[in-house]
Amino acid sequence: MIRLTTEAPLVLESCHSTWIFDTERMRFRRILKGLELDARQASTAWRPYYGLELDSSSESFVVLLNPEGTRLLRSWRHVDRCPQCGGEATAELSLDELRSAALS
Ligand SMILES: [Zn+2]
Repeated sequence: MIRLTTEAPLVLESCHSTWIFDTERMRFRRILKGLELDARQASTAWRPYYGLELDSSSESFVVLLNPEGTRLLRSWRHVDRCPQCGGEATAELSLDELRSAALS
C-alpha cells in the first residue's frame, strides 16, 4: 500500500485552473488552463490559506483565506461530464487558437 507523504502538494482540478496546495506551508497557487504556452505567466503567486474544505456530496471545495473563515474562495472540481462547464474546459486548443496565441 502506498502511503501519501505530507510533503506532497494537494492538487485539485477545477474547470479553469489547477489548484496546488502546499499543505506543509499552508499556501496555494492556481495555474490557469488554456494559457499553457507560458506556464509562469499563467500561474498566480503563492497565497496563504487557513483551511480547505472538500464537500463529499458535491464537487465543490472552499478555501479559507483568513483564520476567521470570513474570506472564502469557492470552486468546483472538474469532473467527467462536468456540470459546471459541460466538459468543455479541458478541450484541446484548436489550431487557430494555437496560431493566434503563438503570434500574440
Ligand atoms: Zn468543468
